[in-house]
Amino acid sequence: MTVKVFKNGKIMDVINGKIFEASILAEDGIIKEIGEFDIPEGAEIIDFGGNYVSPGLFNCHVHTVLDTPVDQGGRPKIATATVEAIENCRKYLRSGVTYVRDVGGSNFIDIDVRDAINAGKIDGPEMVVSGKCICMTGGHGWTGGREADGPDDARKAAREQLRAGADWIKVMATGGVMTKGVEPGSPQLTEDELRAAIEEAHKVNAKAATHAQGMVGIKNALRAGVDSIEHGFYMDDWCFDWMKEHGTVYVPTLAAMYWIFVNPDKVPDFVIRKVRGAFEAHKKTFYNAYKAGVKIALGTDAGTPFNPHDMTAYEMILMKEAGMEPWDCIRTGTINAAELCEVAADHGTIEPGKKASFTVYGGNPIEDMQAVMDCRMTVIGGEVKFAK
Ligand SMILES: [Zn+2]
Repeated sequence: MTVKVFKNGKIMDVINGKIFEASILAEDGIIKEIGEFDIPEGAEIIDFGGNYVSPGLFNCHVHTVLDTPVDQGGRPKIATATVEAIENCRKYLRSGVTYVRDVGGSNFIDIDVRDAINAGKIDGPEMVVSGKCICMTGGHGWTGGREADGPDDARKAAREQLRAGADWIKVMATGGVMTKGVEPGSPQLTEDELRAAIEEAHKVNAKAATHAQGMVGIKNALRAGVDSIEHGFYMDDWCFDWMKEHGTVYVPTLAAMYWIFVNPDKVPDFVIRKVRGAFEAHKKTFYNAYKAGVKIALGTDAGTPFNPHDMTAYEMILMKEAGMEPWDCIRTGTINAAELCEVAADHGTIEPGKKASFTVYGGNPIEDMQAVMDCRMTVIGGEVKFAK
């Protein structure tokens, strides 16, 4: 048995919104005791250095690989994309991320990367994956996704992702900002197509996330039984009521708009035009959803243009700026995210019986949210994956 003592930490209790000084005893990566205790003989001692210890940070919306590049002959450079994905996984560890939900890639690279992490062959956060996103022919995400038309084809597309090893499926209910000729508000997969795909996921206890920006598509996805709304630029009280009643989680990904917005000279005009209109509406919807009591989980859409894999925590700064209380910002990336990923039994809080996964910050984020950008240590299941 491996016994470790993590000492000298200011522990963030995300349930009660309190910070207290304590040491943590972990056996084989599981928290056994929190407080003051005699250090067992032979225990390895790790010093938190008096820093702030959050439950391990989640990013519930990433693309470790989005599109696979192609060479001059049209050959997909799968090895190149895989190497990139592995490097992105290291970036998560260096920036405090202990768990990611990948919501769509290409060539099933996400599935192989997850398996390699689980087998201990490469280093990375814990990971759940979706395989290829399911979209309508020519719709948002089609270049790396699985195009499907009609409920039967959407059902088959979901089965293909699940057969390949996906933990989630990702369905595209609306257009996106980056796809030319497609407005973010326009619906794409129909309600019947969405329902067929989502049913297949639910049959095997997998869950379904939807890219949904405009209201019509969001409502289609909600009625079709989706488990999380991604982006959700335009939502009304009907959406909020439905989400609360059915436990649907909102993953706003404020960062996705932000990184495009701060790089106006690097994107085509049609993108900036769409972003300007959407960004303010998005922040307003985020605030309204928060005030209405919708469960919100942290995701950044890392892997989209200018959206880095090592800036997960910045989403909490954006959420605070948009009106969320500091403790609630921390909860989006810990306990709420663990609930979305259905791993709250052993993730999301620092309590005996849970995995010893921690994100250590150099300052107190409750007093100054900028502190989340100062990651000092990343611990997953008792293993120190990064320290500085
Ligand atoms: Zn995305």
